[in-house]
Amino acid sequence: AEKRLKDQEKLASIGQIAAGIAHEVKNPLTAVKGFLQLYQEDHSHPYLMTINEELDRALDTIKNLLQVSKPDLQDEPFVQINVCKEIKSMLFLFQDRLYSVEVEIDLKDSEKTIKGKKNLFIKAFYNLMTNALEAIEGEGNIKIEHYYKDGCNHIIISDTGIGIPEEKIHILGTPFFTSKSEGTGLGLTQVFTTVQEHGGNIAVQSVLGKGTTFHIQIPVT
Ligand code: ADP
Ligand code: MG
Repeated sequence: AEKRLKDQEKLASIGQIAAGIAHEVKNPLTAVKGFLQLYQEDHSHPYLMTINEELDRALDTIKNLLQVSKPDLQDEPFVQINVCKEIKSMLFLFQDRLYSVEVEIDLKDSEKTIKGKKNLFIKAFYNLMTNALEAIEGEGNIKIEHYYKDGCNHIIISDTGIGIPEEKIHILGTPFFTSKSEGTGLGLTQVFTTVQEHGGNIAVQSVLGKGTTFHIQIPVT
């Protein structure tokens, strides 16, 4: 099964609606949180802490959603990004989480750069790596490749995880699509919007029970 990033307009319009809703919900929730804090100063009840935590969780989701659906709002400057350097420093963050997962790294054109928003790119890579890890039950492998070809940086992340059912491949990147009980369904939305914003393309290949490959191409501009 394969998906290419071509439904960009659809993705953008879903993102805009989601951002609109997120924005509308954020204000009343922030108000509730404020009044809850005032109330808590005079009263104490074990439920209040739970209410506060759940409010924070909802606000966190909204913050993420606003971030992925309105990347333009993050007026991060475009800088030269050394792809391989960022991949390596990202991997460092996963050190403690790689118990039974072997990571193979094959970074070929380590001097190549892309022009882009560094934090968005780092986050996208983090999201892909997180998904790859979460897809692996028990032991498995993740392979990260980088090479430069025909004016494009190619970044390939493959895992030997559970795979994605064929009929779900085309909806990847849609906000809130998740198969995980604790998932947000916003990670891939962030990845797709970031790649799109950098003029790139993503191809997803997956075989159920065998694993998944995300192949990202980002042109050097
Ligand atoms: P979340 O991880 O919170 O569920 P994402 O947007 O990161 O949200 O991913 C959406 C869904 O896409 C996941 O719930 C999962 O079903 C599927 N998915 C993404 N990456 C992988 C992968 N590497 N292997 C298997 N399934 C994946
Ligand atoms: Mg995820």
